[in-house]
Amino acid sequence: MTSSPSRVPLIAGNWKMFKTTGETRDFLATLHTSLSGFPNANQLPQIALFPPFTALSTAMQVVDELGASQQIRIGAQNMESRENGAFTGEVSARMLTDLSVPLILVGHSERRQYYSETDESVNQKTQAALRHNLTPVVCVGETLEQRESGQTDEVIKTQVITAVQGLAPTDFPLIVLAYEPVWAIGTGKVCEADEANRVCALIRQTLNTQANADNTRVLYGGSVKPDNIEELMKKPDIDGALVGGASLDPASFYQLIEKTAQTVHATVPA
Ligand code: PEP
Repeated sequence: MTSSPSRVPLIAGNWKMFKTTGETRDFLATLHTSLSGFPNANQLPQIALFPPFTALSTAMQVVDELGASQQIRIGAQNMESRENGAFTGEVSARMLTDLSVPLILVGHSERRQYYSETDESVNQKTQAALRHNLTPVVCVGETLEQRESGQTDEVIKTQVITAVQGLAPTDFPLIVLAYEPVWAIGTGKVCEADEANRVCALIRQTLNTQANADNTRVLYGGSVKPDNIEELMKKPDIDGALVGGASLDPASFYQLIEKTAQTVHATVPA
């Protein structure tokens, strides 16, 4: 990876609707043991995990007990953009900051597909996150139908521009974007590394039309596995990965982290 030195690589795991509190505890203990064996801790990428709401408090407590809250950052998978009110089943930004959760996933394609999230609601959630000092990881991506009909670039540009409407230039280095082609999520079909890199570059160019995004991280997500991560991480415009399936097992998640560290340090000029 030859990206800007300030774009520290990020490997993030989205657990979706998996893992109880006990499973969360076990996972974090195992991952922490593996990380402790890595020879150069300062070469590791940033690490993030997005457990379900019910395991957030446990995850925060465990990383704290392990002294790993800076190394393994915890995030929520969704939140309501409004401050409080009669929104049964929802969780606000203030409730997340009350747990000291630092990250929030915004606009994952499953939220867009099954819970009617729109580009506008993604923008409201992004703004709410920033108001509460939560780092939003904003997901964008085209469907198979959109890709096959040649609409990929237009869809991505619209999603990106709408997501960042109303943000201040100083917000841009704080947010993280994730390019997640819908057809690659949970399907085993990974986007070719060159094409993933091209769309990640397009995302940064699009952001740059609004404010300086040279230091904004853009991740790739969609069937990332230990056997394909190196090729992706070698690309200059891919600053890390958002991972679903392969983040559920601590051994495979650790391999993603390890391979990213090795790839980044093999490709960054001394
Ligand atoms: C995801 O859920 O964001 C994702 C990329 O899933 P998977 O890695 O399983 O394709």
